[in-house]
Amino acid sequence: MGKVFLEHPGGARIYSCEKCGTALTNKSQLISMRFTGATGRAFLFNKVVNITLSDVQDRIMLTGRHMVRDVSCKNCDTKLGWMYEFAVEDGQRYKEGRVILERALVSESEGIDEMI
Ligand SMILES: [Zn+2]
Repeated sequence: MGKVFLEHPGGARIYSCEKCGTALTNKSQLISMRFTGATGRAFLFNKVVNITLSDVQDRIMLTGRHMVRDVSCKNCDTKLGWMYEFAVEDGQRYKEGRVILERALVSESEGIDEMI
């Protein structure tokens, strides 16, 4: 009642907001663990739920110029990573629409059965 409506991504291994425990995505959405964010290691996911997105920003990264949006937790507003809106370099296009979550800002847990 009066709370933010939260989806549950389901799946075997859940990634949640480290601060408030809101479920964000699961292992089947994980594309790559070889990314680096502001806090260190970061993961690239296909789909993430329960997030809010900032306005598009133009950012120059190691892999070239990208249009990105900051990603924050829908429940507690903690910044969790970013989403690739558009990549200028052809080789980076696979990241478009995908979401980076910083490892230090999310927690991993086993699936739904254990949470209930
Ligand atoms: Zn949160």
